[in-house]
Amino acid sequence: MGRENSMNTTDGNSLTKSSGSPVAEEYDIVIIGSGAGAKLAAWTFGAEGKRVAVIERKYIGGACPNIACLPSKNLIHTAQVASYVLRSEEFGIARDGFRVNMSAVRDRKRRMVSGLVDIHVEEFHKSGAELIMGSARFVEPKTVEVTLPDERRRLLRGKNVIVGTGTHAALDPIPGLADAQPLTHIEALELDDVPEHLIVIGGGYVGLEFAQAMRRFGSRVSVLDRNSRLLHREDEDVSAALRGLFEDEGIDAALNARIHKISGRSGQLVKVVIEQHGTERVLEGSHLLVAAGRVPNTERLGLDSAGVELTPRGYIKVNERLETTATGVWAVGEVAGSPQFTHISEDDFRAVHDNITGGDHLTTGRQVPFCLFTDPEFARVGLSETEAQAQGIAYRLFKAPMAAVLRARALMEIRGFMKALVDAGSDRILGFSALGVSAGEIMSAVQVAMIAGLPYTALRDAILAHPTMTEGLHPLFSTTPSVAVTPAQKPAAALETA
Ligand SMILES: Cc1cc2nc3c(=O)[nH]c(=O)nc-3n(C[C@H](O)[C@H](O)[C@H](O)COP(=O)(O)OP(=O)(O)OC[C@H]3O[C@@H](n4cnc5c(N)ncnc54)[C@H](O)[C@@H]3O)c2cc1C
Repeated sequence: MGRENSMNTTDGNSLTKSSGSPVAEEYDIVIIGSGAGAKLAAWTFGAEGKRVAVIERKYIGGACPNIACLPSKNLIHTAQVASYVLRSEEFGIARDGFRVNMSAVRDRKRRMVSGLVDIHVEEFHKSGAELIMGSARFVEPKTVEVTLPDERRRLLRGKNVIVGTGTHAALDPIPGLADAQPLTHIEALELDDVPEHLIVIGGGYVGLEFAQAMRRFGSRVSVLDRNSRLLHREDEDVSAALRGLFEDEGIDAALNARIHKISGRSGQLVKVVIEQHGTERVLEGSHLLVAAGRVPNTERLGLDSAGVELTPRGYIKVNERLETTATGVWAVGEVAGSPQFTHISEDDFRAVHDNITGGDHLTTGRQVPFCLFTDPEFARVGLSETEAQAQGIAYRLFKAPMAAVLRARALMEIRGFMKALVDAGSDRILGFSALGVSAGEIMSAVQVAMIAGLPYTALRDAILAHPTMTEGLHPLFSTTPSVAVTPAQKPAAALETA
């Protein structure tokens, strides 16, 4: 166990009035931000007996439990309940009327968030890491000035400093966009009322999850994307299936859409002028949500003073050990340009912890599984067909509809498919994707097999409980694979999954 530090010492003895020069307080580890990787670093180093300070300006535990993954999944779950209520006749359940009380939906989410924050506070306390609420910036190498909520300041110097400040939603320089005061995911999770007509800019995973949830609460929803497909980096059959799902739910997707200008204000009336295939049209909505990319939180961090350089895209420049260009300064999570998932930020922590404690842990070549939490979900680990083809890797393709899975039949939720890429020259699984109920859980089972280096036949022949969705791996791997021969015929060993 770590030392028994007190929590949030914002009124502690070491504080200095803003007019004075604070004296530097010495720590083993100073951490900026308390997101996924950062908090694990704090708790672990703290529990190992190191003197640790974590500075967090707003969200204890970072974006995931407060304004991102978990509250959005809470909202999505409520939206799924709404969709069951809407479909109740299908289940033989009569209903009278349908009304969503959005402030009650929000309050349920708030209760969840508040419970999670309490757990985080307790974890900080148990670990002995000192959580300081305030805003941090470098003033010298490995030295951070913290401005506390009452404007007093503290100066903290770490033998090592870890930066995990995350990202925020991007606002493209579209005329009128900023003036329209669009919702980001933060405000979209705090709505009092169901938007009458929500226009979503961005057909990536954040935009799609919110689009479907709001539709299920009763909004009219239009999704705008500059690309020709939803989730355009995924295989075409995935994008097409998602498009079909959205069409069936009554969500309008305007693809290849260039936004020329926006007028009005979100929450009242917004007009979005778009051009598609050379034709201009105007969309009118009540609310606007931006979900078109992220910007790293590096502004006002004083990185210059610490010798920490940025990449051309504005992320903190790190090597494969997550070292920045300044000795003893490390970066984790989205601000380090890592793939934008909580589980990756957590894995960044593993690398930084190992490297600070004398190891040599690289982030190259790691698996990046992910799940889009629409209903049904889309999940993938390892190679997609598009990636395999781009890398010239020969593979066998196993593909089966969700209708082949008895559990899906039992639920009568048979939308979607599963597909697996298996190395053409061995039985090794190269990648797995699924669109369907519990796709994320099925993917994890395949991922474990991939980690263990099991041949696909091990899943085909395993005794899997009936009727589970994972049992669907039997029909998947029992199909006759199509053989895809790619020009370069690279051996699978050359694969990069990250
Ligand atoms: C709507 C939405 C849904 C998502 N859903 C998923 C999902 O289902 N699964 C998944 O894996 N990922 C999801 N993500 C991504 C996931 O939230 C992030 O990848 C994850 O939170 C990792 O973030 P991080 O470690 O980079 O830092 P963050 O969690 O962003 O934490 C950074 C922290 O640093 C603080 N900070 C910033 N600057 C300063 C400063 N100067 N001083 C003090 N503190 C500072 C911030 O307040 C913040 O709390 C979602 C993202 C969004 C937006």
